[in-house]
Amino acid sequence: MSNTQSRYHAEVKLARKNGENEVRVNIFADTLAEIFANIAEVELQFSREPRAMSQAQLEIARAEQLAKAREVAEVAQTAMVAKAKAAQLKPAPKPAAKKPLCPEHGTSAPSKFGGFYCPTKDEDGRWCGWKSD
Ligand SMILES: [Zn+2]
Repeated sequence: MSNTQSRYHAEVKLARKNGENEVRVNIFADTLAEIFANIAEVELQFSREPRAMSQAQLEIARAEQLAKAREVAEVAQTAMVAKAKAAQLKPAPKPAAKKPLCPEHGTSAPSKFGGFYCPTKDEDGRWCGWKSD
């Protein structure tokens, strides 16, 4: 019993009429039927000439475009919803005005005893003494 599997390989070279875009697509498949199906798919994907397509190909292409457009729309919608949720979950920044400030020095620091105190010392090294209640 042999494990060697014959695999088919095809290279599809596609060029637009103006020759500006050239695309080479390598196809590997186990069966010739797959090879030809893939070649047809590559040609369909590359072609922007509706006249070159059969009616069936056109319908497939339209359906695929529609599906892709829906997918893109869904992804965009999901992203928007996620963004909105993230914005809601984000705690609103506390307004700085809520922090009480020493009326004399305009500064304060959180006290380990709770509330705020003024961390300013005077020329003699004495604390300002202001505390929030
Ligand atoms: Zn003070």
